[in-house]
Amino acid sequence: MKRRLFLGKTLAGSVAALLIPKAISAQDTSFSNKNIKTAKGPVSICTWQFIKANAAAAAALESGSDALSAAIKAAEVEELNEKNTTVGYGGSPDREGNVTLDASVMDHLGNCGSVVAVENIVHVAALARDVMEKTPHVMLAGEGAELFAKSLGYKHTELLTEESKESWEEWTKNSKYKPIINIENHDTIGILCLDKEENIGGACSTSGLGYKMKGRVGDSPIIGSGLFIDNTIGGAVATGMGEEVVKTVGSFLIVELMRQGRSPQEACDEAINRITEKQGVDVDFQVAYIAIDKQGNVGSSCIHKGFTYMHYQNGINQNFEVNKYINS
Ligand code: ASP
Repeated sequence: MKRRLFLGKTLAGSVAALLIPKAISAQDTSFSNKNIKTAKGPVSICTWQFIKANAAAAAALESGSDALSAAIKAAEVEELNEKNTTVGYGGSPDREGNVTLDASVMDHLGNCGSVVAVENIVHVAALARDVMEKTPHVMLAGEGAELFAKSLGYKHTELLTEESKESWEEWTKNSKYKPIINIENHDTIGILCLDKEENIGGACSTSGLGYKMKGRVGDSPIIGSGLFIDNTIGGAVATGMGEEVVKTVGSFLIVELMRQGRSPQEACDEAINRITEKQGVDVDFQVAYIAIDKQGNVGSSCIHKGFTYMHYQNGINQNFEVNKYINS
């Protein structure tokens, strides 16, 4: 039977990192994100358990950085993390063995930039910002994006590590492409920051689906799908099966629902519903969203249990299990 109601999941997940010890102890597992009070001061949220990435954004925000710069700082941490096989250096390659990266950024003025299918450049979120700020365009693809990066002094980096090469070589023995994204193998970083000026900026960075077809582009660099921000309302980012996010223009949908009065949580739930209403709830792929509104309230929703996100506010950098999911 089709389950339309989400299962609630309100308790905080593991406590991740404490930046500035304050009233709430790092061991206080009863601290639920439902209890986070709207407070003055910056907020940073990002997909998955990227403790260091969110801490980097938080530190930048606390020292007065604008929201977009802070979000890019977080993306850079994962772009350099070779253990993360879905972002930057060490990302899984496509079927032919090429690592191709996608990224997008958006600022509080509604400006945006993105790059798709970029090879040999690690910091693609920063590159997306350069597209936004230094070209008359919004999106650059493939070789053009790489040439643009080189013209700005980005260094050439071989993104395929020994480890990801070995995994890919193992995969080529059968070359079975089954685009199942389970909760273990997608770790795109999507980050949303609310800075001291109360402006929202965000970024998204990924190597996309492992062993994807050459030329495949997912949701992450598509403005409105993987990332969308309207500074008067809020922002949203996605991770998971990009094709499903693109079909429902998920992040834009969430921001528009918030504009109509839904909370970030209600808006994320509805965006997940849009997918499961068409595809059913027993799908073998994951999609997850996180969202923030102008007041710093956050929401998160996903199809399958297992998604977590980071939340920083008032000196506490914490990992939460998603608020709601459909399948356990
Ligand atoms: N959303 C990404 C994509 O489809 C995958 C991910 O989140 O890992 O490219």
